[in-house]
Amino acid sequence: MKLLTRTAVRELMDRHGLQPSRALGQNFVCDPGTIQKIVRLAELRSGDQVVEIGPGLGSLSLGLVEAGASVLAIEIDRYLIPALSEVVEGKPVRVLNADANNVDWSTELGDSQWHLVANLPYNVGTSLVLDLLSEVGQITQYLVMVQAEVGYRLAAQPGEKGCGIPSVITSYWGSARVVGHVPNQVFLPKPNVDSVLVRIERSPTPMIDAEFAPLLRLVRAGFGQRRKMIRRSLSAFVSEEQILSAGVDPTLRAEALTLGQWGLLGGIS
Ligand code: SAM
Repeated sequence: MKLLTRTAVRELMDRHGLQPSRALGQNFVCDPGTIQKIVRLAELRSGDQVVEIGPGLGSLSLGLVEAGASVLAIEIDRYLIPALSEVVEGKPVRVLNADANNVDWSTELGDSQWHLVANLPYNVGTSLVLDLLSEVGQITQYLVMVQAEVGYRLAAQPGEKGCGIPSVITSYWGSARVVGHVPNQVFLPKPNVDSVLVRIERSPTPMIDAEFAPLLRLVRAGFGQRRKMIRRSLSAFVSEEQILSAGVDPTLRAEALTLGQWGLLGGIS
């Protein structure tokens, strides 16, 4: 299958009178080698069902189809839809013109298992991934391209640089790893920053036996005052005595706490 080259992307945009929208984070991949790398790292099997958020002009959609997947492509920008539909015509790609934040996932995905493979818009990448992990159990495997800093935050372990609210939420639902790096030259237009590819495996059940809502409340409080020791930053929810009796050191800062320790504190808050 012919993947979209830089010339093809330019030609499509010209012919359809399109200008990339900064507000919608439109940086189109125009390098077939990068598309093949993303698809390889997604480890798809023929027949897999893939949600793609933000297909743009269809660069990645074509790569996913080449791997044997069928694709639900959710694109917010109605001006791109004619060009996208032209690119994926006759292929197993269902285009949905919608904001991914407002999709009724149970209607669209049913009960089956899905992958999510996407070059996510920079402004909505983190919140979208965290919402989907928390709310859409049908999506079990993620391969997302995001701004490098965002990717390292999603995958950071306790104590590592970048450890924060996204890292704890991701680790509650599964495991995340940065599996590749993508230079900014492969995009049109070229963004100011490089991107990384993050693979997330979502577990069918949370990684620890702790309720999500109280844990999230604590994590937000802890990282909201990340320079403070948890005996101060979490004082509205747990006392120093309670932290000690849970076997956690109250002089730690939020970034040093393991998921298990967040779970223990969430359980007594
Ligand atoms: N997948 C294409 C590629 O790799 O060339 C385009 C990626 S571009 C970084 C992000 C795409 O997401 C754009 O097409 C943009 O219009 C779309 N987008 C932005 N916000 C969105 C949202 N909330 N829901 C669905 N699509 C969105």
